[in-house]
Amino acid sequence: TPPPTPPCPLPQPSPYMAGQILQSKNNGHVLHIGQYAPAPGGKAKALAFKSQKEMFQKMEESFKFCASCRKQPGQVADNGKCSYLPLPHPPPDYHRCLNVYYCSKECQKADWPQHKKVCSELRLVAIDRLVEWLVFKDLPFSTGKWTRPQGEVKGWDDWLAMQGDLTPRVDAILSGTNMTDLWTNASRPKPEDDDLRKSIWRVSSEFLSRPMTIALGFRLFGLNPYSKPLTIHLIGVSDNETLGARLTDYDELDRMFPGHKGLEVVMVGPEVVDGPIMRPPLTNSGPKTKTYISAYKGLYHQFFEELVETEKAAKPDLVVGFHPGFDASQGLDQGWLPTLLLLRDYEIPSLFTALEKTEMTYSLQILSELEMDLKGSGVNPFASQKPEQVQATPNKPPVYCNSHYFCFQGLLETVEFEEPEDD
Ligand SMILES: [Zn+2]
Ligand SMILES: [Zn+2]
Repeated sequence: TPPPTPPCPLPQPSPYMAGQILQSKNNGHVLHIGQYAPAPGGKAKALAFKSQKEMFQKMEESFKFCASCRKQPGQVADNGKCSYLPLPHPPPDYHRCLNVYYCSKECQKADWPQHKKVCSELRLVAIDRLVEWLVFKDLPFSTGKWTRPQGEVKGWDDWLAMQGDLTPRVDAILSGTNMTDLWTNASRPKPEDDDLRKSIWRVSSEFLSRPMTIALGFRLFGLNPYSKPLTIHLIGVSDNETLGARLTDYDELDRMFPGHKGLEVVMVGPEVVDGPIMRPPLTNSGPKTKTYISAYKGLYHQFFEELVETEKAAKPDLVVGFHPGFDASQGLDQGWLPTLLLLRDYEIPSLFTALEKTEMTYSLQILSELEMDLKGSGVNPFASQKPEQVQATPNKPPVYCNSHYFCFQGLLETVEFEEPEDD
């Protein structure tokens, strides 16, 4: 008889769930500018602001809590930012992050041993958080045709090598009116040009990371867009990913697989925001050579019952979830469990990403409890390069979207131990 399987440890609450302040998305790690920007066409969702300046102020407000004793907004002074208070032994030429707040000098002193480990990276977080606003305007910069087959492009360095000199494209954004407006209205000083150039790349990498991760899924599951049309369901899509979404957002896939047989990306999630992508999914395959985007607002298992099972939407060849955060116990109760069981029982090739290794590990525990057949996991070579603050605990090392992946398909086959045959 096989040895008894050790009991699976219960999933721990995700680190993002602990002591959250001003939580937003299901895994509560960050507040995105997407949640502040008024929706295109004047259809403001929950939050609308009179001006860009007010929008940036509100965003800044959400970070105003003491990083040491957690005093709330209102009790933290503007000049209490990590930057203005004199510090014990500041390193020379050190650029302070301008990203965390303190209620007092004592709190800042007490926090410094922890904060100094992340201060320089949080400086980038603070810049990117504002530059991200340009995703609604100038970002990402235009990208060129792929000169190498997708399988040979193994990471960002390979991808960048195909793009040639990005300087003119990046500098056009740098000197554009949107960039100028941004820093006129932002409640912090404009960084140096070189800092902004790097930030433009990091923010663009987050955007590009999504099509690149879908292609990673193709490779892992042996799906070839040249041999047949492919339907990709993106599940647990956030408001941040769909607010201001354009029909061209996944065109990098067309540059990657020129002349493909048709790709459709259906964005599904309860937080999907109305816009041009909000059109019915195709019943068959997408137009050849062009990636077609459609959307559905609701939970995935509802979408599946309502549209896929009734053949109003094509069956998925691949399901992708960008850091859905179902490792957080809250998320599982609120709708992930039926979806995970559906993915398992219909044996759909599925690829999910995580913000960091711990989240991946927790997720894998949950999947093995559900007896999923895990196909692989690891570091995503196309992780976003943009650091994000774990907002509730600003002294945690920043995390990166899609930094890790894990994939699974169907139910794990039970291994039968056969009696050795005697001839
Ligand atoms: Zn304090
Ligand atoms: Zn700092």
